[in-house]
Amino acid sequence: MASTLLIVIDGLRATDVPKMPFLTELARSGVSYREARSVAPSLTRPAAASLATGAPPGTTGITGNHLWAGGQPIDTGRPHQLALLRSLRGNRLLPVPTLSEHLSGHSRRLVAVGTGSNGCTLLLNPAAVDGHGAVIGAHPFGEDAFYAQPEDVRSQLVGSTPGASGGPFSELDWAVDLIADYVMPEVGPDVLVLWSGELDDIQHDNGIGSPAGEDALGEIDSRLRRLADRIRARSPHTDIIVTADHGFSNATHTVDVADMASVLPASLSEDIQLVDNNGGLLVYARRRLSAEEVDAVLDAVMSADWSGPTFAVDCAVPGTLSLADLRSSNRSDDGLLAYVSLTYRDRNGDQHVGHSTQRNGTHLAGGHGSTSSADMRIPLVLNGPSFRIGHETHLPADHLDVPATICRLVGLPVPPSMSGRVLSEARLRGTGNTCETPKDHHVVAERNATDETMAHFQEFSGRQYFLWAERSRP
Ligand SMILES: [Zn+2]
Repeated sequence: MASTLLIVIDGLRATDVPKMPFLTELARSGVSYREARSVAPSLTRPAAASLATGAPPGTTGITGNHLWAGGQPIDTGRPHQLALLRSLRGNRLLPVPTLSEHLSGHSRRLVAVGTGSNGCTLLLNPAAVDGHGAVIGAHPFGEDAFYAQPEDVRSQLVGSTPGASGGPFSELDWAVDLIADYVMPEVGPDVLVLWSGELDDIQHDNGIGSPAGEDALGEIDSRLRRLADRIRARSPHTDIIVTADHGFSNATHTVDVADMASVLPASLSEDIQLVDNNGGLLVYARRRLSAEEVDAVLDAVMSADWSGPTFAVDCAVPGTLSLADLRSSNRSDDGLLAYVSLTYRDRNGDQHVGHSTQRNGTHLAGGHGSTSSADMRIPLVLNGPSFRIGHETHLPADHLDVPATICRLVGLPVPPSMSGRVLSEARLRGTGNTCETPKDHHVVAERNATDETMAHFQEFSGRQYFLWAERSRP
C-alpha cells in the first residue's frame, strides 16, 4: 500500500538540517525547499491547524498557542480547552474541512501521532473525535497515560505508557514503535502524521546552539531513520515529507506581560486583553471600541520599547501593517486588534529579540512567534517515489501547500477550502511552474523618519507568501 508520511519536528530550523544525517540523506536524495516558511504567527498550534486544513490562521481561527475567546483565555495545547473552543464555535473547532475529513470522504484515513501537547496532536485531526481517522498523543489524559480518539483506537491502547522507558526521548520511542507495530499494520492509514515535540522544549529551556539542543538533533534524527526504515520495509513506495512548525531564535531579553499591560491608556486598560505568545503578542478588544479608542491602544503598543512589527486592523496609526495582508485574521468576530512581533533592530542595527515570559513565569532561553526570518523560516524536504531526486529549489512554499500536495499524492482533488498550491515542481512527473519566477513585493510602513517597518512578500503561482517583517527603530 502506497502511503504518505508527514513528519513535523517542532522548532527545527532549516539551518540545522545538515546536523541531522538521516534528514540530510532524505534532502540529498529528494527535494529540498530553501525558502519554506511558517504561517504567521510562527507558533505551534497555528501551524498544526493550517497543516490540518490548508487554510491560514485567519481562517482556522487558531491564531496563537494562547487565544482569547468567549471572554476567557484558551490554551490550545489542551484538548479540554479545545472542546470548550469547539462549543463556542457552534460545535465545530475549525470552520473549514480538514484534510482528514476530505480523505475520509474518499474512504481513506489520516492518523496523527504526536509527542507535542495533546492539543497540538488533536488539531492535526480534530474530526478524529467524530470518527474520521485517529489521533494519538503521548501525554496523560484523564485516567489514561496517553490521549487517543476515537474510542475504538483508545481502547486498543489501554495499558500502554508512553514515557515508561524514561529519558527525554522515551515518548518519541513509544510513538515510533506504536506506528510501526500497531498503526501501520492495524489501522492502515493512507496519510500518517508524526509530530515530534522534544526539540522545541529543549531549545526553549537551553537555547539554540546549546549542547542539549545539538544532542537533541541527533537523537531525533536517529529515531526518524528507524521509523522510515520500518515503514519502507513494509511499504517501499512511501512518500515522506519532513518539515517544522516554525523556526527558532535565542532571546536577548524577556518582556513581562504585566509590564506590557502598563503601556495601555489607563482609561482603556479594562477593555484590552493582551495574550502572551512568546515572541508574538496578540492584542484583543474585550468590547467593541471606537476608531479613536483603537488608535489610542495601537499607538501605545507601537510606542512601547519592546514592540517590533505590528500587524493591525484598519487604523490611523502610522507604522502599522495590515492584518489583512498577513491573512492572519479574517475572523472579524474574534476581537483581535493586532499581532505584535517582539523583535526589532535598533539604530545601530543590533537585533533585539524579546520573548514574553511563558511556562509559569520562568525565563526562556529561546523561542519563536515573531515575524523575524529566524522564526519564520522552516525546513521542507520531500523524498520518495513521487518526487524528484537531488533537487534543491528556492521557490516559495509554506504550510498551506503541504495538505494540497498530499491530496495530489494520494490521487484526490484539492478541495477549494485549501488555499495552498500543489508543489508540482517537486514532483517527478511535475511540469507546472517551472518557468515562472516568484515576484518580490515589499510593504513599508513609516512611523516617523527613524522608525519604519518593512514586510517582505513573494507572489508565485497565484499565491502570496509572507516571508518576514522587520522593524528598525530608534
Ligand atoms: Zn515552542
